[in-house]
Amino acid sequence: MENTVMNKKTNGWLNTDEKKKNLIFDFCDEYIKFLNNGKTEREASKIIVDELENNGFKNINTVDKLDDGDKVYMLNRDKSVYAAIIGSDSMVNGINLVGAHIDSPRLDLKPNPLYEDAKLALLKTHYYGGIKKYQWTTIPLAIHGVVVKPNGDKINIVIGEDDNDPIFTITDILPHLAQEQYENKIGKAIKGEDLNILIGSIPTEEKSVKENIMNIIYEKYNIGEIDFYSSELEVVPAFKARTLGFDRSMIAAYGQDDRVCAYACLKALLDANKNSKTMVAIFSDKEEIGSVGNTGMRSEVFDLFVNEILTKKGENTPGAINKTYCNSMMLSADVGAGVDPNYQSASEQNNASFIGYGVELNKYTGSGGKSGASDANAEFVGKVRGIFEKNNIKYQVAELGKVDLGGGGTIAYILADKGMDVIDCGVPVISMHSPYEVTSKYDVYSAYEAYKAFFEEE
Ligand code: MN
Ligand code: MN
Repeated sequence: MENTVMNKKTNGWLNTDEKKKNLIFDFCDEYIKFLNNGKTEREASKIIVDELENNGFKNINTVDKLDDGDKVYMLNRDKSVYAAIIGSDSMVNGINLVGAHIDSPRLDLKPNPLYEDAKLALLKTHYYGGIKKYQWTTIPLAIHGVVVKPNGDKINIVIGEDDNDPIFTITDILPHLAQEQYENKIGKAIKGEDLNILIGSIPTEEKSVKENIMNIIYEKYNIGEIDFYSSELEVVPAFKARTLGFDRSMIAAYGQDDRVCAYACLKALLDANKNSKTMVAIFSDKEEIGSVGNTGMRSEVFDLFVNEILTKKGENTPGAINKTYCNSMMLSADVGAGVDPNYQSASEQNNASFIGYGVELNKYTGSGGKSGASDANAEFVGKVRGIFEKNNIKYQVAELGKVDLGGGGTIAYILADKGMDVIDCGVPVISMHSPYEVTSKYDVYSAYEAYKAFFEEE
């Protein structure tokens, strides 16, 4: 990269020839398939594990000894995945990690969801993650998830995706009668308890609408109303990921936060050239609600994975895991906030990311005085810049919106707490956390290139 006095920020498509553009478009066609087939953390985990196994990765529990070049993964409760390609170098000298999350904001069914009101059958939900509630009304919705019986039988449910499936929706008041709703502030216009899914309307002589619907569910899935107690049913937009724009340069889809970085990370690991360092990819759950629980990044299940590698590599001396962490480097692969042309006042333009300008580095996250921030040290930012620049990867450095407007975090601080050098690095998104998030295909590919180069760094 040319060393000039001033930092010239240019659009990534300007230096993209036809061949590269086709490469980017083909990559994103596969990414779109991934989005459509993996709308929940469970579905994404399954696709990731299948892809890993097809590329020679083995479940770490089936392996006794690990050597240079071996590939292993750990699937944590069907909702998060850790994968590694073993290097020749000792782990305590540091490993290269890229970590994304595969959960997305959505509506979860309550444990007692079914009820009848105003002669219609509905399901109650509790939203998961930061959503703008009004965006979830009057759109087609699908239900994905599992119901587990007391005997352990697990029933997988996906309804609303196939063109022949019915879909579901949350109703909203007609404008003619919305005077009271209009009086509310936008954040209060739709309440959490208003996010009820319409699922049926036919009664019979003997049965209410609700009973009739439960009967249909029982016939179709062999589950009774009490079985909702032990279910995880997620309500997500039923529409498909699509190419966006006359120039076909963008993607609109549900769940790009953070399955865009997860996909780029997976492909980068599979395509990475052999390195003496061990390369580790993380696909975590529960990021959207604080990385909590046994499938979230704060759980020690990831430490178990690293310990297993150390043990099976014959390097698990006292303190080895801490030394490994303290000498390692990581990209926290999560999305950033691209400038929205309709809401530019939310961004400080010099420190904002633009879609199509390459993968985004966030030196720090947090909010209001960097509270809760994971702030990468300058030495590490310099190193990451060096990796990107020598590999001709287009990147931009930004922060999440104007000071004191809000903020956010990722899994970065959790790994930084363990002693790693970590920086946030992901794809800028417009309409983040909405049912239809927008990304640039250029940035999706830049993220892939960035993660691959980072994995390969000696
Ligand atoms: Mn995210
Ligand atoms: Mn998010």
